Amino acid sequence: MFEVVIGLEVHTQLNTNTKLFCSCPTSFNHKQNTNTCPTCLALPGALPVLNKEVLHKSIMLGTALNATINQTSYFDRKSYFYPDSPSAYQITQLYTPVIDHGTLKIDFEDGTHKIIRVNRAHIEADAGKNIHDGDISKVDLNRAGTPLLEIVSEPDLSNGEEVVLYLKKLHSIIRYLDIGDANMQEGSFRVDVNVSIRPKGDTKLYTRVEIKNINSFKFIQKAIELEVARQVEAWEDGVYDQEICQETRLFDQVKQETRSMRGKEEAADYRYFPEPDLLKVSISNETLAKYSKIPELPDEKMARFVKEYGMNDYSASVVTSSVEMAHFFETMMACGISSKNALTWLTTELLGRLKGDVNITNSPVDAQKLGFLVKRIEDKTISGKAAKDVLDHLMEHDEDVDSAIDTLGLKQVSDTGAIEAICDAVIAANQDKAEEYRSGKDKLFGFFVGQVMKESKGSANPQTVNELLKVKLG
Ligand code: ADP
Ligand code: MG
Ligand code: ZN
Repeated sequence: MFEVVIGLEVHTQLNTNTKLFCSCPTSFNHKQNTNTCPTCLALPGALPVLNKEVLHKSIMLGTALNATINQTSYFDRKSYFYPDSPSAYQITQLYTPVIDHGTLKIDFEDGTHKIIRVNRAHIEADAGKNIHDGDISKVDLNRAGTPLLEIVSEPDLSNGEEVVLYLKKLHSIIRYLDIGDANMQEGSFRVDVNVSIRPKGDTKLYTRVEIKNINSFKFIQKAIELEVARQVEAWEDGVYDQEICQETRLFDQVKQETRSMRGKEEAADYRYFPEPDLLKVSISNETLAKYSKIPELPDEKMARFVKEYGMNDYSASVVTSSVEMAHFFETMMACGISSKNALTWLTTELLGRLKGDVNITNSPVDAQKLGFLVKRIEDKTISGKAAKDVLDHLMEHDEDVDSAIDTLGLKQVSDTGAIEAICDAVIAANQDKAEEYRSGKDKLFGFFVGQVMKESKGSANPQTVNELLKVKLG
């Protein structure tokens, strides 16, 4: 009966060394209000100077989004009064954004996809932070002036699932390009969700509600669900026009509801005008050419893995799900191992052993080591079972693979002579069972294999043991 219409505004922090218009560092965890200067404190007379790195990173994102890069763009001043902005305005790009009209493809599990249009992405300065502590509120301006790109989608998304796919894809592109951390929990990737409903088939856009303050994919889906239900109910009760108005609502994760935060400002409320303290932004052909040469993106990497490593789509999507996974996997593959083993040892064995704050970027066993360990299984130096013990050991000890194998005495014995001696000894000690086996009790074969493996302390090559026992037991 109804369909849902959603458009997203994503604010992503760029990981430049310095702020957008001054040379203060952008690194966080510094003492409050120490990463500041007259410019980002908005002291009278201080003038902004554009950080070129921001333009370079914008060109990269624009290229990844198949967008037009406006080689001439401008900054505008958006007035608003709030304690976290000492200038009482934000410098942004209203009329000519640096990134214009792009697209982002989202892929569904059933193999189909949808193209989401991106209306624009513009550069703007972040505000500081208000910290509320009981009755007292404090302001920290370390973040004030940090560069942001605001990426605005067209209202092409139809449900929470599509929203999450879009955000994950955008997040992944930003990480692959290494232009930002895009960490939702830490606030370097902030999403405003605009939601409206309309009767199925209608093409008109109805009143949209903007939901802010959602910091996880799970909550985004929940917030959309709740907001859609609220709008549908108002429609069905005949009070849509009275109850649904263009406003900003806050998602309350404790009460599981959205509630009104403020009426939606109109553009006029912001008294936009061209920023008088900054020159127009010009991007030369050389700069454009240089920064539009971007690293391989997730989709391309996935396609290449399928082709080059003979992986299926699902496996390839697992190892390209993040840029860190992809790099780890590729480093493992450089050891000349099979993609199937690389995948299992990365996802099941290594990820299964990482706990707490430890992840593949700071794992005690790096990609090189894990790749080499797999290599040692493939060249039959150790069995797969022994390799698990080696990995356990390497998680605790800073040792190389071969020396860990030695330390643990796990080198597989393929030397037929040595294994033969053990087989003979085991058969001699179990004459009765050997007779039973020969008279048809096939199941006993496993017993002999087990005994030999046990005598060799697991180091005998199982294949060799099998072959030798078959001959000796007749
Ligand atoms: P503002 O900056 O005032 O929030 P924008 O024109 O930049 O306004 O649009 C904000 C977002 O709202 C865009 O992502 C757009 O796709 C989305 N949007 C616009 N109209 C609707 C609607 N009727 N329903 C859902 N989303 C909408
Ligand atoms: Mg908005
Ligand atoms: Zn500064």
